[in-house]
Amino acid sequence: MNPRSEAMFARAQRSIPAGVNSPVRAFRAVGGSPRFIARGMGPHVWDIDGHRYIDYVLSWGPMIVGHAHAEVLAAVGKAASQGLSFGAPTEAEILLVERLCAVFPGMDMARLVSSGTEATMSALRLARGFSGRNKIIKFEGCYHGHADSLLVKAGSGALTFGQPSSSGVPPETAGQTLVVPYNDTNALADAFKTAGSDIAAVIVEPVAGNMNLVAATPEFLRAMRELCTRAGAVLIFDEVMTGFRVHPGGAQALYGIQPDLVTLGKVIGGGMPVGAFGGRADIMRHIAPLGGVYQAGTLSGNPVAMAAGLATLDIVQRPGFYESLFKSTGQLVAGLNAAAKRRGVGFCAHAVGSMFGLYFRDAPPTSFAEIMSCDKEAFNRFFHAALEAGVYFAPSAYEAGFVSGTHTTTEIEQTIAVCDAIFAQPRAT
Ligand SMILES: *Cc1c(COP(=O)(O)O)cnc(C)c1O
Repeated sequence: MNPRSEAMFARAQRSIPAGVNSPVRAFRAVGGSPRFIARGMGPHVWDIDGHRYIDYVLSWGPMIVGHAHAEVLAAVGKAASQGLSFGAPTEAEILLVERLCAVFPGMDMARLVSSGTEATMSALRLARGFSGRNKIIKFEGCYHGHADSLLVKAGSGALTFGQPSSSGVPPETAGQTLVVPYNDTNALADAFKTAGSDIAAVIVEPVAGNMNLVAATPEFLRAMRELCTRAGAVLIFDEVMTGFRVHPGGAQALYGIQPDLVTLGKVIGGGMPVGAFGGRADIMRHIAPLGGVYQAGTLSGNPVAMAAGLATLDIVQRPGFYESLFKSTGQLVAGLNAAAKRRGVGFCAHAVGSMFGLYFRDAPPTSFAEIMSCDKEAFNRFFHAALEAGVYFAPSAYEAGFVSGTHTTTEIEQTIAVCDAIFAQPRAT
């Protein structure tokens, strides 16, 4: 029973469209009404009706050290006590950018912004300004924030330029974006054959986490690097989700491939609004006021947000953090796979680093089409049963899950036991 959440959801809908400030929070994909959260601590969140959940959403990725980590809170408190924002440079911005440049080998310089959307939007503008070209390539099922030229789906027929996937996006804008199937190297090569000398940039989630979880094949990313280099197109790895998540050095370290520009967000803000885009100095020097590509932000590099990001990176960069985090994630996925097998349920789970996917099909998907073939109704029943039992998975079959450094064997085993009990009831799945 969730009387307080339900009352608050009804009230929220009178003043906020659908009651939420980001669509997936509204639970439309899974039905029912969202839980309003009162607080979080470590791997847990509590809703306003007093229920406790093991949290695998983690604010959609950022809370990699768990909720309300004492060191992060102390750093935030200290920064806040010295003033919230100045709109003038502060040392903390240099510290965060230096940290990012030290982690990502191809990152000579970076700019800080306040969201992942701003990071990808700015990186695209920069790639266009740098190359003097207009067209971009994105991949089906990848999400890069909600800038106009990225809210695009494939047109009908292969290799046509895209159509808006949101009303309000001008067809002329969407028409500058070519949408190619994920992990389809031949289609990518064809796209370059068709439009090669007009392509400013290719943007990709090197491990896709916005269509559930789909890892890129190494060959796909290698071919992408090769094709961009040959055509003089800027390769942008959108690591807003994967940065500090799939590997201490991001997906680019996991695959050993260096992009020209990288976009970051989520973990680097530790729960505060932070994004970044950076890369090759010869490209970054096109940003205003050094160059002609305009980009700005009143709250960019906000000192309190910098403090949260720096404290979070301090924790994840300690010896052993990722070993333990990846071990927990691996344990979770292995436990869920074993339970599904034992109970004869058509389900599997798969992890890359500390991101995981849950799929109601027999093998992990490799494409958007395979993701769409998963049993969505089975997921929705599973989701609600897990939520009732105190396990908070993402409220959609098309989102990745996340584990934090505070998810210990206790929480992982509890989660596996909850899922095993659900799998054991044939009606539940
Ligand atoms: C979350 C996300 C974004 C958008 O970031 P916001 O901070 O929500 O604007 C962009 N790209 C990827 C890969 C993401 O996962």
